[in-house]
Amino acid sequence: MTLASLTGFIVLAIAAQTAVWAGIVLLRHRREYASLRKRATEKSVASPGAGSAEKASGWDGFRPFRVERKVYEDDAHTICSFYLVPADGAPLPPFQPGQYLTLQLEVFEPEDGKPRPVTRCYSLSDRPRPEHYRVTVKRVPAPAGRTDVPPGRVSSHLHDSLQEGDQLLAKAPAGPFYLNDRGPSPIALVGGGIGITPMLSMVETLLHEGSEREIWLFYGVRDRTEQVMTHRLEELAESHPNLHLQVSYSRPGEQDVAGPYRRHGRVDIDLLRLTLPRQVETFYVCGPPALMESLVPDLEAWGIPPDKIHYEAFGPASVKRRQRAAVAAPGEPATVTFANSGKHLVWDPNAGSLLEFAEANGIEVNSGCRSGACGGCQTAVKEGDLDYLQPPEADVEPGTCLLCISTPKGDLTLSA
Ligand SMILES: Cc1cc2nc3c(=O)[nH]c(=O)nc-3n(C[C@H](O)[C@H](O)[C@H](O)COP(=O)(O)OP(=O)(O)OC[C@H]3O[C@@H](n4cnc5c(N)ncnc54)[C@H](O)[C@@H]3O)c2cc1C
Repeated sequence: MTLASLTGFIVLAIAAQTAVWAGIVLLRHRREYASLRKRATEKSVASPGAGSAEKASGWDGFRPFRVERKVYEDDAHTICSFYLVPADGAPLPPFQPGQYLTLQLEVFEPEDGKPRPVTRCYSLSDRPRPEHYRVTVKRVPAPAGRTDVPPGRVSSHLHDSLQEGDQLLAKAPAGPFYLNDRGPSPIALVGGGIGITPMLSMVETLLHEGSEREIWLFYGVRDRTEQVMTHRLEELAESHPNLHLQVSYSRPGEQDVAGPYRRHGRVDIDLLRLTLPRQVETFYVCGPPALMESLVPDLEAWGIPPDKIHYEAFGPASVKRRQRAAVAAPGEPATVTFANSGKHLVWDPNAGSLLEFAEANGIEVNSGCRSGACGGCQTAVKEGDLDYLQPPEADVEPGTCLLCISTPKGDLTLSA
């Protein structure tokens, strides 16, 4: 073998070795890349993106739950907590504090005594726990002076008929009103009446997580008989110096003396301005229409940026105001046929959503959140098209619509 051929042989051997080594590295690289891609895809399927952040990871449709415990929370026995455990015994997914459950119950019709499924939303009032969810429900009486109308259907049913051991159906926790800022800056939580329920969940969650941020909790009630979780909240305030509890009695009885954590008066902007340090920028508000309609604009007028004021209304009145203010009902007058009710009616933009229009014309339709989140008012569209006032949060089945956030786009026939 000549020197030249030996050199050529060595060069070839080195080149072959390098090629094999490069091949192995490339193969490993490709495998790692493939596995990273797989993990990334799995992750993006499992964790909801920004657009679906309102939906806690949960389950589709309704899931059966059993009432494990019923606990009255106020002296007047008008507010009751329901501890709900899943009938299948599987652990419960977490939720964002402030979110609600959509419940469906079979409630007997006063007219014919037949059971009919009715949907309502109730905020989760405890921190997330794998073993149960808790909702806290106020009994809703008939409006003052109206002996001709029945009291609230679902709240009465929950209080009077639903017993420990009974079952009901619930959708997974959902809703856009939740504690979405977990930073260290101080926050103010304002709960009026039963509007305290999402705040309870926020307080319990933050303190359980060991958060040291300053939490200012304002709780407005008529008097002490309507106050819920009194001992629990005072116990939390005593053991956590960062929780500042302020209960306001708007119509105090003789026994409702002012003292630590308690004062006489309403929760209003003057109270917040007097009490809160300047650093408080983020507000969560939930309460009756009168509170929401005054406090939310007052906070804005005080200089709080609108995106720092989070609020939720339990009743239809203030939800209506918010929707109307945000978007003028679009569209031209149109004839809406409610097929099952046999009614042909002319809708115009002043009539509001199709849900409001149906209710104003005595057409019985199911409803829940009235903001497109619970799917309670889903109704089949037989003919025609419609516009949404805002994108639905609930999944809408093809061929149906959510009446609470839609208006007709030309003549329309609905099944209701
Ligand atoms: C996101 C969200 C979260 C909520 N969280 C909670 C919560 O944590 N706790 C809670 O207690 N509630 C909560 N609510 C409110 C709850 O969903 C129900 O609206 C409430 O329980 C009343 O329902 P009901 O079926 O008892 O009353 P409904 O049957 O809806 O009746 C409501 C009122 O209308 C009156 N009425 C009935 N028929 C007529 C008529 N023909 N004419 C005039 N008036 C009539 C009734 O007497 C009653 O006063 C929440 C609501 C939402 C949207």
